[in-house]
Amino acid sequence: MKRVIVIGAGASGLMAAYAAAKNGNDVLVIEKNEKAGKKIYITGKGRCNLTNDIAADDFLENVVSNRKFLTGCIHRYPPSWLIRFCEEGGLRLKTERGDRVFPLSDKASDVTACLLRYANSVGVRFQFHEKVEKIVVSDCIVSGIITDKGRYEADAVIVCTGGLSYPATGSTGDGLRFAESLGIGTVKCMPALCGIVCDMRALKDLQGLSLKNVRVSAYEGSKCVSSFFGEMLFTHFGISGPTVLSMSSEINRRPVEKLKILIDLKPALDDETLDRRILRDFDKYSNKQLANALIELLPKKLIAPVLASARCAPGKLVHSVTKEERARILQILKGFPLQPISLRPIEEGIVTAGGVDVGEIDPKNMQSKKVKGLYFCGEVLDVDAYTGGFNLQIAFSTGYAAGNSIL
Ligand SMILES: Cc1cc2nc3c(=O)[nH]c(=O)nc-3n(C[C@H](O)[C@H](O)[C@H](O)COP(=O)(O)OP(=O)(O)OC[C@H]3O[C@@H](n4cnc5c(N)ncnc54)[C@H](O)[C@@H]3O)c2cc1C
Repeated sequence: MKRVIVIGAGASGLMAAYAAAKNGNDVLVIEKNEKAGKKIYITGKGRCNLTNDIAADDFLENVVSNRKFLTGCIHRYPPSWLIRFCEEGGLRLKTERGDRVFPLSDKASDVTACLLRYANSVGVRFQFHEKVEKIVVSDCIVSGIITDKGRYEADAVIVCTGGLSYPATGSTGDGLRFAESLGIGTVKCMPALCGIVCDMRALKDLQGLSLKNVRVSAYEGSKCVSSFFGEMLFTHFGISGPTVLSMSSEINRRPVEKLKILIDLKPALDDETLDRRILRDFDKYSNKQLANALIELLPKKLIAPVLASARCAPGKLVHSVTKEERARILQILKGFPLQPISLRPIEEGIVTAGGVDVGEIDPKNMQSKKVKGLYFCGEVLDVDAYTGGFNLQIAFSTGYAAGNSIL
């Protein structure tokens, strides 16, 4: 029997603790908050999208950073494993649009309750309101931890402290500091799954407008570096919504202010078809002002910005619009330009990109290659994925892989 300390009672920590304790180890979870699963509680808008019910290979397509590192772990502990685990633990689930899995109750707290039932069933002990400050290592072997309340001996320590996002839930980057203090490499942390700040000086009126079925693309020079189809939203700072969140994860290692974002407002129509469509509307409204001829094609709030970008006077009568002006309108409809300035701060990201360098970690069991008995799981690692339940599944799978490897 080994003395195992798990730092953090989030998704990965609760799973790691159960997996280690069911193997007969003595497991103590130390959590600085007053309770377990503070972040789980706010996931999926309080409903917790805990995984995505797809095969492991398809799952891995949704991993943005270090897919290869996660391949073995996700194949061993795929969504089907997690779904069975939850249901056997009394948590009934449902699958929604996009294969997203939620508790049938729509309550994120039921996910934490299920994990706590598992942990309690195998004797996991919890210490709340206690903050780990240091990991003690001698001769490259972990020997214990020091907290703000005392010192504990351990044969294994599993670091499940999360990243830097939503620090009010407890994830304040402590695990990264532990790694750095032990000479374990880390990769610079970046916000991921976050909004993008854009120059909105001329676009203030767009705030609150949400668009469906658009294609949002980011360009570095003439090269498209990220492109997503779906929904987006204009906000007070710039843009957000599903397509934009995904895009942020792909552009966060680039100089965002040097990119250009183009929104294809009519992605289903090629240039020729769209031009025919515009001509049809222009015929219908030939004696009206240009702004009034676009009401069937665009949401009202977008008409003025589109015409301004196309350098066309909104009051001009449609029958006097030139061919060049029509071509410019078409061009803007296929690529409404936005100037990104930055990503929103890391604290606002749904997840953190960057973290403990996976080159330092054994992908089979999440153990440090430098320090024996020291493990890193979940968001503290340099792994991140798109929205859809992927990030929690990564936390659960890596947590289980670590805990279960301690025999
Ligand atoms: C608003 C929001 C919504 C989200 N929705 C989803 C979703 O629906 N689906 C999905 O897949 N993902 C979602 N995510 C992402 C997902 O929640 C995280 O990726 C996941 O919770 C990471 O789990 P973790 O165990 O690695 O870290 P965390 O859940 O952050 O847990 C870390 C724990 O460690 C504790 N801790 C930290 N340092 C110390 C220390 N020094 N001593 C003691 N304890 C410490 C913290 O208090 C915390 O409890 C969402 C994230 C946010 C912010």
